[in-house]
Amino acid sequence: MSKVLIIGGGGREHALAWKAAQSPRVECVYVAPGNAGTAREPRTVNVDIPAEHVDELVRLAETERIDLTIVGPEMPLVLGVVDRFKAAGLRCFGPTQAAARLEGSKAYTKEFLARHRIPTAASRTFTRETFDRTYVQSHRTPIVVKASGLAAGKGVVIADDAAVAIGCAEAMFAGKFGDAGREVVIEQFLEGEEASFIVMADGRHILPLATSQDHKRRDDGDRGPNTGGMGAYSPAPVITPAIHARIMREVIEPTILGLAAEGTPYTGFLYAGVMIAPDGTPNVLEFNCRFGDPETQPIMARLRSDLTVLCDAALDGRLDRVDVEWDTRAALGVVMAAGGYPDAYTKGDVISGLDQAAALPGKVFHAGTLLRGNEVVTNGGRVLCAVGLGDSVKSARDDAYRLVDAIRWPGAQFRRDIGHRAIGRG
Ligand code: AMP
Repeated sequence: MSKVLIIGGGGREHALAWKAAQSPRVECVYVAPGNAGTAREPRTVNVDIPAEHVDELVRLAETERIDLTIVGPEMPLVLGVVDRFKAAGLRCFGPTQAAARLEGSKAYTKEFLARHRIPTAASRTFTRETFDRTYVQSHRTPIVVKASGLAAGKGVVIADDAAVAIGCAEAMFAGKFGDAGREVVIEQFLEGEEASFIVMADGRHILPLATSQDHKRRDDGDRGPNTGGMGAYSPAPVITPAIHARIMREVIEPTILGLAAEGTPYTGFLYAGVMIAPDGTPNVLEFNCRFGDPETQPIMARLRSDLTVLCDAALDGRLDRVDVEWDTRAALGVVMAAGGYPDAYTKGDVISGLDQAAALPGKVFHAGTLLRGNEVVTNGGRVLCAVGLGDSVKSARDDAYRLVDAIRWPGAQFRRDIGHRAIGRG
């Protein structure tokens, strides 16, 4: 029997911990720091260590004799948590610091994509010293301005005119996102339909996970400010078998092979955000070096195979020899967020209705929640993700909204139309 550690405390980590705890070979799942949801799962315990405190995490894994660690968020990966675990002789599923640059530096990634002829928007990278306003002015609008480093999902601006784009770039150089804005990528705006594509990799082999799509805008009709994600579903009909094949051949395979050839092999979850052009070309918008949140929640709800077996196979370089089994039903997750999110929001509101929801079909994953005595209170922008399963995306959605309708707290906000694109396709 083995012990598993999940690093992180959001909805993605609740879903990973919930899935790992179902494995017959797992005795206990530790989550650092976890949330109220993981605190209440059977065979699961929270440990009060923030995800970025790498030294303490290594110590925990050593003293508790953790057999397998799975890293949720990007920050510890970019800080080198996997390298540190490896150096201590511990098994940790995720990319090394060098491989995690794929998310940690958009400037590096744009050069990598160009080197390997992987389709992406035309772009140039500038520093304060090299910034060329005439490059921006000579571009068709809208134009996209991106801080190169990690900016908690806020470092991308789609500017409708050159003056706004220049203002954004200069604010980034001036320190708006700290070190993350020292380099700024300016790129062409791409038309098309956005899709996420998530795989597991073991340095050489690739295991594509079930397809999914998320909704990044806060409000119904895909309007309002960008967020970390207000809902997601799996499978995603936009990823037809033909598009699936093109993303694998033109994006994922050259990326994994290219990283290996450059001496930085990639092991871990790899998330490609792609814009499917009208002619079917899968242009890379970004890479994330971790699983998506909220995509993890519906994808884990559909995973039939043992997550820990898949991670172990990846750590041993034998992902080509495992089979992965999926629930044939669709899964759809609706994020419930605190009022005000993605701007300032309140914390500490008591959530009611969780027990009623637990009696319904589906699963409520926690994100920004905290146990206060016997009560569950809000503790973040994205608070919960209610996941339904069904024979179609529409019936999965109906189950998800039955969960949502059972749950209440002051100011809770959520979209009513998660899955509308997939459902609209019929
Ligand atoms: P990123 O973090 O680079 O994925 O950017 C965040 C979001 O901005 C993406 O999910 C897209 O919706 C949008 N975006 C980024 N780059 C582009 C682009 N070149 N063209 C159109 N939309 C983009």
